[in-house]
Amino acid sequence: MNSVDTIDTIFFDLDDTLFDATGLAEKARRAAIEAMIEKGLTGVTAEQGYAILKEIVEEFGSNYDNHFNMFLKRLNQFSSKLVSVSVITYHKIKVQEIRLYPDVFEFLQNIKNHSSCTLGIITDGLAIKQYEKILRLGLDPFFSEVFISDEIGIRKPNPKIYEWAIEKTKCFPEKSLYVGDRFDYDVIPVKKVGMKTCFIHRNGKHDKVLDEASRKLVDYEVKDLADLWAKIKDIVAPPS
Ligand SMILES: [Mg+2]
Repeated sequence: MNSVDTIDTIFFDLDDTLFDATGLAEKARRAAIEAMIEKGLTGVTAEQGYAILKEIVEEFGSNYDNHFNMFLKRLNQFSSKLVSVSVITYHKIKVQEIRLYPDVFEFLQNIKNHSSCTLGIITDGLAIKQYEKILRLGLDPFFSEVFISDEIGIRKPNPKIYEWAIEKTKCFPEKSLYVGDRFDYDVIPVKKVGMKTCFIHRNGKHDKVLDEASRKLVDYEVKDLADLWAKIKDIVAPPS
């Protein structure tokens, strides 16, 4: 085995890489609108309501706390009761329905049983929200290293977030792999710091078809983690 090719550290993006964040958010938002209609919201179908809410999320950003307030104001039907109905339903779905992509657990088991790789997460977002997902998904026991932009003061796509993770983990960029679903955030800056890159197609909101030039920056292009395991199982650092 060529030691330059060895992978001994694997970092992951979280949203739309380890679980279906796009799908879960859509499901929770649709359920919230249906619940509001059931409790008296009028003048919009569930489908029209979802389109309006989507527009509000795009305008105010996904971490804004008052999407449903804005939604009701925009429809000129603001009521505190309907805000409560929407928030309760939204959170209920987000808690009940969050689950890993079906290929994730087996991949993590394979790494644990057949390699000595260190596993980490590097993610943008609010620390409490990101940790909540990590804990609810049962990922905590697998990941010794977690880096959240809000906790360290650096956001993707700044390559410094990846340098920070490499330094804190005391690993070598050339022996580290980063797996993510967003090309401009999870591939370009990662390549800049000399790490190996894996672009995963999860059909999330940032997924895209790679052109030839983009493909040059991607070491592994995969549809899921079973696909990635098949490609790297012979070059991961063996169990110690
Ligand atoms: Mg992502």
